[in-house]
Amino acid sequence: MKIIRSLKEMANTAAAQKSGAKSIGFVPTMGALHQGHLSLIRRARKENDFVVVSIFVNPTQFAPGEDFEKYPRHLKLDAQLCRKEGVDIVFSPGAKQMYPDNYKTYVQVEDLSNHLCGLSRPGHFKAVATVVAKLFNLVRPDIAYFGQKDAQQAIIIKRMAADLNMPVKIKVLATVRQRNGLALSSRNVYLTKQEKQEALVLFKSLNLARALLKKGRRNVKFLLEKIKALIRLEKRAVIDYVAIVDRRTLQPVKKISDNCLLALAVRIGKTRLLDNTILKGKR
Ligand code: AMP
Repeated sequence: MKIIRSLKEMANTAAAQKSGAKSIGFVPTMGALHQGHLSLIRRARKENDFVVVSIFVNPTQFAPGEDFEKYPRHLKLDAQLCRKEGVDIVFSPGAKQMYPDNYKTYVQVEDLSNHLCGLSRPGHFKAVATVVAKLFNLVRPDIAYFGQKDAQQAIIIKRMAADLNMPVKIKVLATVRQRNGLALSSRNVYLTKQEKQEALVLFKSLNLARALLKKGRRNVKFLLEKIKALIRLEKRAVIDYVAIVDRRTLQPVKKISDNCLLALAVRIGKTRLLDNTILKGKR
């Protein structure tokens, strides 16, 4: 396994694989790898000749005051994990190389970027779409792997790839959780022991929605009220949003159909956590 930092070397390496008709599987990450990332890497390993994992804490997707500086960075450890999983290349470019002083070009996926996380993080998805487009151009993957945990991100990347005719297939894999239900996230390291307990309210909310649906409660307003009431029972939980939206358009829905996504963003102390589940309309 090789760690590549130079954009040129990455592009040359990808070109060499392509000329040998090798399929490239790609997992873009910000590092601090956990089992969620590893599930994507393992799938990529299974399905491709050559596997690239990028580790890049993308500065442009953090707003001032967010956690860019303190975001966990463990390149050595991450590289060891990647080596164990049979990854071929860890691509970890520098920010100055990715965004030189004269950098001017951004990718904006309209509409889909303005809901949910886009409301409290304006500009975030423009930065995410841009960095992923740049990484796709450098790595030239046949298949790129993303987590359902960041459902909106996955939908936006799929849209971008389709709209810009990018020759890549996007695969979205299930959220990996701790045994108690907490969705794995690199940001979980910010949580104190007590906050980790309080953070379970996100998973409990998803379960509550599923249980109410099973009982035939399909009214979205009712479901949202019940979920919000549950979250408010946690003293230090602050709701950013709780929404039930169409899975493809991210527009709010009034009635549950087969294509609904229940998405949550909740602050536990200083840490903003996400979770989501697909809701099924039929019993
Ligand atoms: P990040 O390093 O947080 O930017 O995440 C890199 C990729 O891993 C994204 O596609 C995420 O959606 C995915 N990911 C993060 N957490 C999980 C998880 N718990 N289960 C599955 N995939 C995840």
